[in-house]
Amino acid sequence: MSSNPCLIYVPELLQYNFGPQHPFNPLRLKLTIDLIDQLGLLTPTLLYPPESAVDADLHTVHDRHYVDAVKKAGDTGEAEPQDTQYYELGTEDNPVFSGMHHASLLLVGGTLTGAKRIASGKADHVLNFSGGLHHAVRAKASGFCIYNDLAVAISYLRSQGMRVAYVDIDAHHGDGVQWLFYDDPEVLTISFHESGKFLFPGTGTVYERGSKAGFGYSLNIPLEPFTQDQSFKEVLDMVLPVALEQFRPDVIVSQHGCDGHEFDPLAHLSFTTEAYSYAAKTIHQLSHRLCDGRWLATGGGGYDFWRVVPRVWTLLWAEMIEKGDLVDMPGEWLKKYGKHSPVALPEMVSDDTEAFSPKPRHAEIMEKNRLTAEKAMNPQFLLKGDPSRTQLAK
Ligand SMILES: [Zn+2]
Ligand SMILES: [Zn+2]
Repeated sequence: MSSNPCLIYVPELLQYNFGPQHPFNPLRLKLTIDLIDQLGLLTPTLLYPPESAVDADLHTVHDRHYVDAVKKAGDTGEAEPQDTQYYELGTEDNPVFSGMHHASLLLVGGTLTGAKRIASGKADHVLNFSGGLHHAVRAKASGFCIYNDLAVAISYLRSQGMRVAYVDIDAHHGDGVQWLFYDDPEVLTISFHESGKFLFPGTGTVYERGSKAGFGYSLNIPLEPFTQDQSFKEVLDMVLPVALEQFRPDVIVSQHGCDGHEFDPLAHLSFTTEAYSYAAKTIHQLSHRLCDGRWLATGGGGYDFWRVVPRVWTLLWAEMIEKGDLVDMPGEWLKKYGKHSPVALPEMVSDDTEAFSPKPRHAEIMEKNRLTAEKAMNPQFLLKGDPSRTQLAK
């Protein structure tokens, strides 16, 4: 599979920073780019700097009043009471930091730059692991996400006449992207996440299927807590190829939050790196099969930033550039970060899946997830909002 991939990164992306006590620590980006580099997976021709987004880009999905409030809070360094009341700025999850508007513009610009390179044919695969802020909605920050870079990029791709399949494997429901395109039959959103019965943001049931013309164009696969690789891979196989083949996207946008890993402190899924590598490979293959390789991938959640995040996103990049033979972690990287990490750093790039034993309710969890995927894929509902499209669904 020939391809023309690029990685979007500049160190200024580390400025999206809620402070040292906050779980969304920008060190995750630094650890990842260093690992990619030290494994020899980055040449200057593959690296591409993001162009900062401008307010007009944000206005395609965000309310002006909200953008103005973020700007003002970022200038003064603090939130007014009404910012917290109306926009969820200055909360524990979304604290205000100095320059937050500009730092967020660069992050959004990273994903948007990727979308523009794909739409213009300059690249087919693009990774912006600094992006993936899937919770932000029209006029509200949510879950560490100020602006929704994915939605801005999708909105741009739509403006270029492209049909977009959005795939989200973060442990949390991809609610922001779903709601922003809920009526739109040209954007299929698919989210695999830990069931909202147990985890923020609480949404993402199989019954959220889209509305009006977009009915059938939102797919949700809420997973049981303690779901492991085998079950995740099974439901991914039940859903992704069928839904995407019926939808026939022009481009795939994917969010690779890795907070579903067994080690992650915020969610309760039990994946290893294998689940993430498998998802990346499946999405990669589908991009070539269905849309000439057009694939825009982002990071997302992931709060074990020492042991999990750098390896998962390095494996994602390795999949994109077809360097699938990574084994040992580089000694230099382990030496540099080993002395700062509060936990022992893994010595292999991929987890040894044998070391993760099956959970006690393993069989029951598999069966429940299988039934959920079957329910989500009910052909009565899949892609049924737009009459012209149901032809394709046959
Ligand atoms: Zn490829
Ligand atoms: Zn998450």
